[in-house]
Amino acid sequence: MTVFVYGADGVLRADEVDLATIAQAVDTPFYCYASTVLTARFRAFAAAVRPLNALICYALKANGNLAVIRTLAREGAGADVVSGGELERALAAGIPPSRIVFSGVGKSPAELRLALRHNILQINVESVPELHGLSAVAADMGTTAAVALRVNPDVDAQTHKKIATGRRENKFGIDFVDIPETYALASRLPGVRPVGLAVHIGSQITHLSPFRQAFVAMADLVCALRSTGHAVERLDLGGGLGVSYRDEGVPAPEAYARCVAETVGGLGCHLAIEPGRAMVAEAGVLVARVLYVKAGIDRRFAIVDAAMNDLLRPSLYDAYHPILPVRQPDPVKAPEPYDVVGPVCESGDTFAVDRLLPPLRSGDLVAFLAAGAYGAVMASEYNARPLVPEVMVRGREFATVRRRPTLAERLAQEPMPAWLRD
Ligand SMILES: *Cc1c(COP(=O)(O)O)cnc(C)c1O
Repeated sequence: MTVFVYGADGVLRADEVDLATIAQAVDTPFYCYASTVLTARFRAFAAAVRPLNALICYALKANGNLAVIRTLAREGAGADVVSGGELERALAAGIPPSRIVFSGVGKSPAELRLALRHNILQINVESVPELHGLSAVAADMGTTAAVALRVNPDVDAQTHKKIATGRRENKFGIDFVDIPETYALASRLPGVRPVGLAVHIGSQITHLSPFRQAFVAMADLVCALRSTGHAVERLDLGGGLGVSYRDEGVPAPEAYARCVAETVGGLGCHLAIEPGRAMVAEAGVLVARVLYVKAGIDRRFAIVDAAMNDLLRPSLYDAYHPILPVRQPDPVKAPEPYDVVGPVCESGDTFAVDRLLPPLRSGDLVAFLAAGAYGAVMASEYNARPLVPEVMVRGREFATVRRRPTLAERLAQEPMPAWLRD
């Protein structure tokens, strides 16, 4: 995919717009998303799962920008949401309620009511107490919720421990062994109707074997439930397919779809998948400006104007993002090792250690690649740094799809109590 490449003028482009032009228009740092990559990724998944007739519910938590969601919605995406806020976003962006699945371990009664009011496709229930809670809320509203039970299959996703969700010790889902009893309970309770099962074992999974293991377990469970008289109509297989941040090979959507077909394809269930990262990661970059290059005694620091509050993944997960200078480097200049760091007052505010980069100077623009997933959505205003703008590019056009808030807007959110006024 030739979307983030250098143009003939030696400037890194997002599609057909050079990133220096966008930097001039919105100032740094900023996120930039390429619409072309979003649609290409969606279409790759859609083509791969077409024979399975699976619904693709984009996991909004990877990137909840309204323009990103609408771009995918126009391609036919449904949504996987994990909060009332995400549900509102999905609806605002134009995803039909009939394609929205609500996941998450701690849905509040207000969030459940919101979901029921909009009559979404399915609520994935993650515990027996939540099942009782949903039953009470739905019965009170005089409605019936279509429920899938999220199974914890006790499978090792072989990923970073903070994004593994399918082990028994993780907080997610209902233990595999407790599913038959819970399914039976769901079929007796008022206000809920069990329609099937859901699973999601983690994120940034780079091998098919954990998926295969989990899906085989799901197939066994479907058969066991059916043998006791339950019609299990739906199977939601979650997300988790990884992307290549470095040079880790990752399964293509076709290989993933084959794994789905081989394990659960013969059950006659309506299938859903919930890719998040794999849909949006490669569609986004974070562009920052080098403020200073500081030569320490044994390290060279490139201090950039983006920080951990803008892109948390390196601090949180030791994640790797490729870094490219926005102006194509002179090939005769040898790369040098840099620690690329932000201005936040934490040593953890480090994007890269000993990264070999072409010589950098104050004022240079750099792009952190593969930043479209779990980037802007995890940003905070730590150190009173405003949330950075998000820009979307399509061909030669670009538009700000979230603007930088003004200082006045930010201060206005904090009313002074009467006793501290004047
Ligand atoms: C986070 C999440 C996803 C998406 O995970 P990715 O790794 O981004 O594909 C899908 N389903 C559920 C329930 C999730 O919590």
